[in-house]
Amino acid sequence: MPGFEIFGDEERKEVQDVLDTGVLFRYGFDQARKGHYKAALFEQELSKRIGSAYSHLCSSGTAALSIALAACGIGAGDEVIVPPFTFIATVEAVLNAGAVPVFAEIDETLCLDPEEIESKLNPRTKAVLPVHMCGSMARIDEIKTLCDQKGLILIEDTCQAVGASYRGKSLGTFGKAGCFSFDPVKTITCGEGGAVVTDDRKVYALADQYADHGHDHIGKDRGLEGHPILGVNYRISELNAAVGVAQLRKLDWILDTQRRNKAAIKDSMSALPGISFRKLPDETGDSATFLSFFLLDEKKARKAVAELASAGVDGCFYWYGNNWHYAKQWEHLHKMNGAARMPVELMANCPDFSKINLPKSDRILGKTISMQIKLSWTDEMMEKRIESIQQVLKG
Ligand SMILES: *Cc1c(COP(=O)(O)O)cnc(C)c1O
Repeated sequence: MPGFEIFGDEERKEVQDVLDTGVLFRYGFDQARKGHYKAALFEQELSKRIGSAYSHLCSSGTAALSIALAACGIGAGDEVIVPPFTFIATVEAVLNAGAVPVFAEIDETLCLDPEEIESKLNPRTKAVLPVHMCGSMARIDEIKTLCDQKGLILIEDTCQAVGASYRGKSLGTFGKAGCFSFDPVKTITCGEGGAVVTDDRKVYALADQYADHGHDHIGKDRGLEGHPILGVNYRISELNAAVGVAQLRKLDWILDTQRRNKAAIKDSMSALPGISFRKLPDETGDSATFLSFFLLDEKKARKAVAELASAGVDGCFYWYGNNWHYAKQWEHLHKMNGAARMPVELMANCPDFSKINLPKSDRILGKTISMQIKLSWTDEMMEKRIESIQQVLKG
């Protein structure tokens, strides 16, 4: 996930443009900014790259999720289906909207299993929020079909999968809205940043307003523009947007490099006994930020991940054993510890998250190891990595 590996003169130039004008705000100051609108430029280029009608760049991926939920009208009294394998931000955004996150199990794509969604539906279910984890896709066409049949809003958390696609269509563009993150460890970064993409003009307008205190950004004078709704400040600064403009232009090179590095490692592992790979509904659309593979069971996976680390194969993650990405490990969620007290009604509607029962996700994540794919690996490093992996996993 390594945009940070390749900062160069391109990022420096874009940031310098902004510093030279002194305008760090994305709106207004039309004279002083000498034609530099980095956030707006990023939005145009992102829409073009992924094929969405509209993009709104904001301060983080978490903000993007909150904006998308708000713009799609999701809030108090609603339930939203989410996978238990994600980053806590997905669930925080749902709770902060006043809605209840409902966990449905994942399948061997490591994403929400479309067949597990139906049993979680009830009249309060308003939306499905699949997460394209670790650079690759959920069975998004089946999830989309189900949402259409049931009249549910589909919002994609594409924070970890910018540039990935399913059958030629970019992830993030299947539902009513898609959310991206450009935080420091994502495929491309703004330092901090995120984006909501949509084809729906009304959703876009609400997103744009909500992220900036309800300002409608119509007309030139900030004192005279309309304020149709209450909002928040989820704006991005021009400095962050400038870094993103340069990074976005490197996306295709990043994807090519990751895919090449991943393919070499994956090929070298394909004959190893007891190893299989994460299911990819469309392998060509994989953004290849990670190589995720399965051992036969939890015991073998725990042993392998420890041995890979001692053999110097860095960047291998065992999500089932740490507290980053699996809902069963999130003590803050289990205790529903918020800094501010949550509305009584929301608390009453939420199940006891410390007791969520996810046998299938347990089984799958228990045997999963994800290896981060880097851009900066030399041929020599790749050879050494492949050799060490063989040593550890040959059985
Ligand atoms: C990173 C991430 C987010 C949140 O993005 P931030 O920009 O860090 O707020 C949300 N969902 C997933 C799956 C992520 O990986």
